[in-house]
Amino acid sequence: MPTTVKAFGAHDVRQPLVPLTIERRDVGPHDVKLDILYCDICHSDMNFVGGEFGPLPTSPLVPSHEIVGRITGTGPEFTRHRVGDLVGIGCMVNSCRDCENCRAGQEQYCLNGHTLVFGSPDPAEPGAHTQGGCSEAIVAPGDFVVRVPHNLDPAAAAPLLCAGITVYAPLKRYIAGPGTEVAVVGLGGLGHLGVKMAQAMGADATVLSQSDRKREAAAAVVADHYAVPGRRIRVHGAGPS
Ligand SMILES: [Zn+2]
Ligand SMILES: [Zn+2]
Repeated sequence: MPTTVKAFGAHDVRQPLVPLTIERRDVGPHDVKLDILYCDICHSDMNFVGGEFGPLPTSPLVPSHEIVGRITGTGPEFTRHRVGDLVGIGCMVNSCRDCENCRAGQEQYCLNGHTLVFGSPDPAEPGAHTQGGCSEAIVAPGDFVVRVPHNLDPAAAAPLLCAGITVYAPLKRYIAGPGTEVAVVGLGGLGHLGVKMAQAMGADATVLSQSDRKREAAAAVVADHYAVPGRRIRVHGAGPS
């Protein structure tokens, strides 16, 4: 039997999030179910609810794609996580697993279309749309659920599920590390994580900003350098991102 859970969602664009109830499907053979401990609001949640991506894909829409919770149930075919594990869910919860890109581990480029954590038609529940983290619990394919180490504050871990991975991926791809220099353009939600991660990898991190307004904030995250290059920032020799 599907479970009814409390949530916050929007009934239309440019409308406030309001309390409501939604249904979560039964745990399938390869699914996990978790009680959500923390979720947060990323800018693309605001884009959806603010109407910048067009009409809501479904109504009501429950946003949030940075979710940390504790597993309360697993399907019989899924063994990678156990009940009680602290885990996270980011922006994707499914893909075809069979196309060339999925088989290469690039599920975000699934040639048959990936399934977002909210607002996507749910292949596991024909006729229904996925709903996000502003809710008490969620059921998702276990392959898209990641372990959260116990030494991480679960509240602080939630933003790593989208903002964090967004900056981690290029740092990893371009091998940030001792002896390398990383420039972070803008010290916002992603930028400050970029500085911290670049430094944790051993790189020298410079914040490039349009003004001195964020200089103190840069000092707070212990950026190595802060520069205001002028109205136009030109980056020579930068690789594609
Ligand atoms: Zn695919
Ligand atoms: Zn995001």
